[in-house]
Amino acid sequence: MKENLTEIEYIGDNHVGTSSDTPLREDAFMLNDDEKMRLINKNVYEIMEVLGLDLTDDSLKGTPHRVSKMFVQEIFGGLNPKNKPKMSTFENKYKYGEMLVEKNITVYSTCEHHLLPIVGRAHVAYISSGRVIGLSKMNRIVDYFAKRPQVQERLTMQIVKELQKALDTEDVACVIDAKHLCVNSRGIRDIESSTVTSEFGGQFKDQNVRREFLDYIKLKADF
Ligand SMILES: [Zn+2]
Repeated sequence: MKENLTEIEYIGDNHVGTSSDTPLREDAFMLNDDEKMRLINKNVYEIMEVLGLDLTDDSLKGTPHRVSKMFVQEIFGGLNPKNKPKMSTFENKYKYGEMLVEKNITVYSTCEHHLLPIVGRAHVAYISSGRVIGLSKMNRIVDYFAKRPQVQERLTMQIVKELQKALDTEDVACVIDAKHLCVNSRGIRDIESSTVTSEFGGQFKDQNVRREFLDYIKLKADF
């Protein structure tokens, strides 16, 4: 460990995730959304106050309310299982046996170490073992797990795990390429860099299957 850094600073700057499950406390949903918003509102107000901002200014006075609503209902809405999309699947009646790739899914998430945006694309693929899932469900499940304080590695794994469960197959893969604003806009300030993470289950561990998936992702399409 570097000198002069607390453990928290050291882990935070290195973006180390500690678990593939989001670290939630057991009492995470003791409070309802309205109670959470009321408390967050109060705390954001205090942060702004400490920074010396004039909270009576017309431009600022609504900010604590807007931030609390955004945290609970939007960007961290994926913490609450009640917001999870229904993962209904269907019988693979047309017997399509090749891989299906849903690519360029927009990812808007939030780095859990800095609470700054992660913006990028997810590419998800599966090979049916008899069940199929609605295409937009793949986008929805990406969005659900993205709407949490996240590390990109965990997000990638959570998407794969959830689809494996729903589709009852190991043959699921996900690649995410994303920019982290905590890297691009502060700290090292590298605006060009992006982070790629991947999780390959079942048949996707095979070199040829993996290569096929990665080739589809590269396909350029101007529609
Ligand atoms: Zn960060």
